[in-house]
Amino acid sequence: MAKTARILDVLDVQPAFTDSDIVQLNERFAGADTVNVIRAAFDENLLGKTAIVSSFGAESAILLHLIGAIEPNIPVLFLDTGKHFPETLSYRDALVAQLGLTNLINLTPSSEILQAKDATGLRWSYDPDGCCAIRKVQPLEKALVGFDSTITGRKGFQSKTRAGLALFERDNGRIKFNPLAGWTKEKLDAYVVMHELPPHPLVSSGYPSIGCAPCTSKVLPGEDPRSGRWRGWEKVECGIHTPVTMLGDPSIEPVF
Ligand code: SF4
Repeated sequence: MAKTARILDVLDVQPAFTDSDIVQLNERFAGADTVNVIRAAFDENLLGKTAIVSSFGAESAILLHLIGAIEPNIPVLFLDTGKHFPETLSYRDALVAQLGLTNLINLTPSSEILQAKDATGLRWSYDPDGCCAIRKVQPLEKALVGFDSTITGRKGFQSKTRAGLALFERDNGRIKFNPLAGWTKEKLDAYVVMHELPPHPLVSSGYPSIGCAPCTSKVLPGEDPRSGRWRGWEKVECGIHTPVTMLGDPSIEPVF
């Protein structure tokens, strides 16, 4: 894998990671310490040109702290949809400064597309899939041209649709690296305390998962942490991630 990535670096072409690459990575790092996996990923150039995709949500500080301690100059892609809570934008700026991250990239939707497809700004209320497509999926796809992989903060325990999340996934020829895939809520909480990471200001108000303001509601005790997202709709993911159906077996196509 490392050899493949380096050869492709020299050739300056987009690597198409294969199912076999993903299987090998998941087998190699099964049960490994998270910091060691991250170090190996960077030391051996397993990810090629990579970026963190962060929502600056409830638990985003953990991944940003883990990666930032090793690669503070890594691009951090934030989907600035125009619909975030003001608290999220303030938290983003404070966290970037505190962690010494030097390459925050705010991805905004195309103004032409917004004018054509969401002139009222209310598309979320009648077509959330379409709204996410123009405010999240399209800006991210455009930004990822030239990247070989992304790093996400998703966890398997967050919802039924993320149960079984693999450490490495195949994502349209790119690697999607999920260092926190196997972390529990208790482990996350302990990490936050140990490193004195600031919480998102809305967590204490009953929001364990935070996305855009119109599509995020409070969560009751006993509910999935992500059950407050798009409440009342069948929708469970914004489209930049698909529900986990592979259970670590990348030979099975994910359902879109
Ligand atoms: S989460 Fe809601 S407001 Fe944000 S892009 Fe998706 S549908 Fe639109």
